[in-house]
Amino acid sequence: MRLVLLGAPGAGKGTQAVFLKERHNLAHISTGDIFRQNLKDKTPLGLEAKKYMDEGKLVPDEIVMKMVGEKLAGFKPDEGFMLDGFPRTVAQAEFLEGQTKIDGVILFDVPDDAIVKRLSSRAVCKECGNVTNIHEHDKCPSCGGELYRRDDDKEETIRQRLKVYHEQTEELADFYRARNLLLEIDATGMPEEVFSRVVETLKND
Ligand code: AMP
Repeated sequence: MRLVLLGAPGAGKGTQAVFLKERHNLAHISTGDIFRQNLKDKTPLGLEAKKYMDEGKLVPDEIVMKMVGEKLAGFKPDEGFMLDGFPRTVAQAEFLEGQTKIDGVILFDVPDDAIVKRLSSRAVCKECGNVTNIHEHDKCPSCGGELYRRDDDKEETIRQRLKVYHEQTEELADFYRARNLLLEIDATGMPEEVFSRVVETLKND
């Protein structure tokens, strides 16, 4: 199975990807994670992407498409994956159509106010990448690792990322609805509740 996880930043795509990975044995491809890893390794790609990420803007299509194209080339035809954070523009979605067949696109729906609240308290584990709430934990509840706040989880950058989502990414819902691939999920509430809606929706698909 090959899925696209669509939704605003903070809609819970990464959290749901962890559940889906376990249940369906799908590889998790997060373009944001790939950029952050490149930044940590100080590669030219990471340093270039940082300029856009710090401002809450999208990395240019050509850079992202080249990176994703190389990543997808490493998959055998029978291997499943989830794309998290890609595509984010119509040009990227058209590119993806030329690369592989997608079986479904899950759209995680969360109102903007709830997103701002979620991201303002989001913390990530340095060791295992687990996402948690800074007000509830001072160490990773999963592995005990140190927690950090993402640079782009500042309120001002969150607002900018949401603006970019509404201007450039939201229209992908129509793009995939027209292709009969869109599965819309209410992504408010606890991660486990959201996941049970995902499971139901995939069952009925
Ligand atoms: P994320 O972790 O998905 O929220 O992505 C963090 C940042 O990486 C975004 O705000 C963008 O600057 C950049 N990024 C990730 N995926 C893409 C993409 N598909 N197209 C353009 N920029 C991206």
